[in-house]
This record gives sequence, structure tokens and C-alpha cells, in this order.
Amino acid sequence: MATKLLLTFAICRLIVTVGLTLEPTELLHLGVDGQLSVHPSDLESASRDFGLLTRAEPLAVLHPSSALDVARLVKAAYGSDHGFTVSARGHGHSINGQAQTPDGVVVQMSGNGVGPRPRVQAGDMYVDVWGGELWIDVLRSTLEYGLAPKSWTDYLYLSVGGTLSNAGISGQAFNHGPQISNVHELDVVTGKGELMTCSEEQNSELFHAVLGGLGQFGIITRARISLEPAPQRVRWIRVLYSNFSAFTRDQEHLISLNGSQKFDYVEGFVIVDEGLINNWRSSFFSPGNPVKISSLGSNNGGVLYCLEVTKNYHESTAASVDQEVEALLKKLNFIPNSVFTTDLPYVDFLDRVHKSELKLRSKGLWEVPHPWLNLFVPKSQIDDFNRGVFKGILGNKKTSGPILIYPMNKNKWDQRSSVVTPDEQVFYLVAFLRSALDNGEESQSLEYLSNQNRQILRFCDDDGIKVKQYLPHYTTQEEWRDHLGSKWDRFHQMKKKFDPRHILASGQQIFTPTF
Ligand code: FAD
Repeated sequence: MATKLLLTFAICRLIVTVGLTLEPTELLHLGVDGQLSVHPSDLESASRDFGLLTRAEPLAVLHPSSALDVARLVKAAYGSDHGFTVSARGHGHSINGQAQTPDGVVVQMSGNGVGPRPRVQAGDMYVDVWGGELWIDVLRSTLEYGLAPKSWTDYLYLSVGGTLSNAGISGQAFNHGPQISNVHELDVVTGKGELMTCSEEQNSELFHAVLGGLGQFGIITRARISLEPAPQRVRWIRVLYSNFSAFTRDQEHLISLNGSQKFDYVEGFVIVDEGLINNWRSSFFSPGNPVKISSLGSNNGGVLYCLEVTKNYHESTAASVDQEVEALLKKLNFIPNSVFTTDLPYVDFLDRVHKSELKLRSKGLWEVPHPWLNLFVPKSQIDDFNRGVFKGILGNKKTSGPILIYPMNKNKWDQRSSVVTPDEQVFYLVAFLRSALDNGEESQSLEYLSNQNRQILRFCDDDGIKVKQYLPHYTTQEEWRDHLGSKWDRFHQMKKKFDPRHILASGQQIFTPTF
């Protein structure tokens, strides 16, 4: 009863606030158990994202209480004479308004009390989770059973539906594949408002399309995620290189290892002229052991490369970890005496970026514009990329945030998914995770950093470096066709089949709504 009253109130506000763009009777008869809100604070938060680069206010926000609520809303949008767009929003950690929809309804999938709690099937080693569940909460639930998902993102305050719509990658991807390679089954509300279960065996077209599908084919309301026994502790090691070829050779060697004699996580980052290594991923080095780049004798135009690896273990096998790590490190060619090691609980390692978030928040440096650029670079062209970008375009300039670089194996990516990767067996993620500051320093301004992103893309284009954007952002269909390449026809076909009116995730700017 209270929900009905609230809904009626919301609809009345909707009529008053926005006129009749949205057919109110359709929304009145939705019969959702959750809450349809036009409260200014809901509209405000749904109109922003982590990037803080674009703003688009929806007409209303649905806080669903179940998948049926989501289905009812999408069915109303699809069946309506007028039509309206619907965008799922997880934690709103996109950069370019991908979860926004002006003149439509945002479904706020993440949040307190939204959706059912994770259900762990310990015997079968999987967990069923709500699409808006944050990965940190998935981890907490599975750890109660001594289990954990296998493939991660660096940061855990992202929703399951949000990362599965892209790929979900971190240093485990070389071994386990991206998060989309670790899903058994999904429940999806299609653009026609149908709630469908899909997997490799059942409605497989939908299953593969949705994984990495940028929210275009359906709203993920449940995901069944594969689990493994959770390690208890992590040995976390960083070593430095001044020679890029030695750095990439070692990374590629480490991701080629099979069997148990390998690291569990392989990443890396670029350090461009920072003097003291002090960016937000590097608290590791200090204050106990601050590193002066000059002290390492870098005569490499100020550029250093840091390899980051971990070995997971149980306390019962702690005795052998030193030996295993030693044996793996022995084969690498990093700068002598540049080994930095720490040891911590598994959860603290996985949740490491949250610590940096809290620090940045306390300094007012978290809620700032983030002109991020994420690229997949083919292995055969990573040297050219280093020369032209790290040493060329960025050389000796402040980078305004971490630059990650690590390789992955394409054979761990299911080619039937919608995500696009370069056409080579090994490719690198290069992520420029920058924060723009309004502090009067030109080189940290949004305009400067956005220009630099364009310069990097232009350089790749001019030099024939066949990069693919990860978390892609384009504004014309021509660019999207180009990005998707040979996957475009299928992508288009699946859109026609599962979201024929182009209702869903219009913030990606791939298809124009047809009403
Ligand atoms: P939102 O921004 O809310 O949504 C993103 C897109 O997915 C939108 O188009 C939306 O409509 C769609 N969507 C959301 N929920 C659903 C759903 N349930 N069903 C269907 N479509 C849906 N990515 C990595 O791979 N690895 C990392 O290590 C990593 N680290 C990050 C660290 C930070 C600090 C940030 C801000 C981002 C990071 N990302 C990383 C990127 C992140 O994975 C994507 O931006 C992801 O989309 C964010 O999830 P979200 O829940 O915030 O999605």
C-alpha cells in the first residue's frame, strides 16, 4: 500500500515536473514493488558518473525490488506508443555517461537492500548474485564459505552487471580470463521486457551477446559466478625496470607459464618522471622504503616500469612461498636491488584501491573529472607505443594518475562474447587513469589531459598501431562499426532481436532510440 502511494506521488510529480513526455498511465500501471522516484537527489545522482565529464538528468529513477520490477518497466517502455529509454545503472563508475539517459528512466541496480542477497552453492562452487551487487559484497559473502571468485577488477566497488557489460579485468585475467569468462549463467531482462535465463546451453545467443555487450541487449538481473577456494594471504612483490623490452619480455614470460609454478597476478605500471614514486598506486613504496628514481640510475628519459606480481597462499603452505617466489623472480631481468615485498591478507590485497580512494576522498581529490583512456595494444606494437607515447607524448610530463600496463592471453577470452580485443594472441591493457585538477597548472587541467588523450589516439592511428579501446567511448555509429569490426554485423543483428526499439543503455551512443 505504501509503495502504491509512493508510486502515485512519484507519477504526479513526474507529470508536474516533466509534462507528458512520458505516458504517465503506463507508469502508473506498472505495479512495481520497488520505488519509482523523481526525488531531486535520486535524479542528481543518476545524472552523474565517476568521470564527471557529462551530465544528463533522467525523468525518473526506479529502485527495483526484483527482476520482475525491471521487466515491468522495460515492457512498459517497449509497449508504449510513445516509448522511453531505460538504462541500468550499477555503481555509476563509467567515465562518459554510459549509464545515463536523458528523457528516460534509470534503473538503479546497486544500493542498500536492492535485489536478493548472494546465494552461495559451496558444493557446486558457484554463487548466484543480483546484477547490481558490488564485487566487494560478492567477496564478503563467498568468504563465509571459504570461497572466492577467480577473476577480479582492481577496484571492488563496481557492480557485477557493470563489469560484465565490459569484461572485468585485472592481474588474474592472463590466467583465468576476464570476469566474463567466469560466468555460468545469467538472468537478463531484454529490451522487450522478457525475463530470460541464458547460458552456454540455453539461449546461448543472448548469453554471449550480453557478456561484454555494453548493456545493449538486456539488463543483467542475476549472474552465476564461478568460485575457487579462497587463499588466505598474498605475497605482493614489485620490481623495477628501466629497459622496456626487458620489462615486457618478463611480463610475457610470466603470463605464458602453465601449471602451479606461476604467479597468481601479473600487472605493471609506468612511472614517468615522478622523482619520488608517489602516485596513488604506490603508497606501497613508502613511507618505510621511499624510492628515488634517480637513485636507481635511470638514464631512460625519466621513464621506469614497475612489474607487480603476487603469489597467493594458505597459512598451512606458507613455508614454501619464499622458495616459489624466489624461483620465479630468478628468471627475471629487473634492476638489481629493486625488489619491494609485502605480505597481507587476501581481502586486503583485493580491496587495495579502496584504501587509496579513502585517502583521495579525504583530500577532496576523488570527486574530480576523470578523463580516462583505456586501450588494448597488440603485443607486436607495444614497443612502438612505448616510444611514441610513454617516451614521446608523455615524456617528462606529469601524468596526473597511474598508467597501468599488463599483458593478457587472448585464448582466455571467449570470442563469442561481444567484447572486442586486438587480433593477436597476446595483447596489453594500457590504462591512463588520470584525474583533472583545477589548480591553475595547465598540465593537470581537463582540457590539457583530454587533448593528450586525443593526441595518443591520433598517434596510434597515424602509426598504424591497431589499438582497441577498452570501456570504449564513441559518439557516432560509424566509429562504433569501426571499433566492433568483424563483430559489428552480429552485434547489430542481436540488437534487432533483443532490443528492437533501442530502448536500453542509450548512453553508450551506439543506436538511436526508434520512437
Ligand atoms: P555503470 O557505470 O553503472 O554502468 C556501465 C554500463 O553498464 C552502462 O552502459 C550501464 O547501462 C550498463 N549496466 C550497468 N548495470 C547493468 C546491468 N545490470 N545489466 C546490463 N547493463 C548494465 N574495469 C576493469 O575491467 N578493471 C578494473 O580494474 C577497473 N577498475 C576501475 C576502477 C575505478 C576507480 C573505476 C571508476 C572504474 C574501474 N573499471 C575497471 C571500469 C569499470 O569496470 C566499468 O566502468 C564498469 O562499467 C563500472 O561498473 P558500474 O557498476 O559502476 O557501471
